[in-house]
Amino acid sequence: MKHTCHWEGCEKECPPAMWGCKEHWFTLPIFLRGQIWRAYVPGQEITKTPSQRYLIVARLTQEWIKQFKLGKKMNEQEFLKHLGVEKKEENE
Ligand SMILES: [Zn+2]
Repeated sequence: MKHTCHWEGCEKECPPAMWGCKEHWFTLPIFLRGQIWRAYVPGQEITKTPSQRYLIVARLTQEWIKQFKLGKKMNEQEFLKHLGVEKKEENE
């Protein structure tokens, strides 16, 4: 299966280990890129078993993109708040 950029609406193909195309990757704020890298487990694109954390970060990244398209930008504090909330729910 071909891997395309995770940016909603972008059809660009990229290497499996990359989150998305260069253009969109660098559109993400640096803290978000850091979160994705930290949650990423090498080989997950082969095993198809990304960590729970990666799934949450990936979902929040989509949320960030949605807001970005509306002209808003979720800052790191908000992002971490969402991350904390989701992690808490995970343990319940
Ligand atoms: Zn893209």
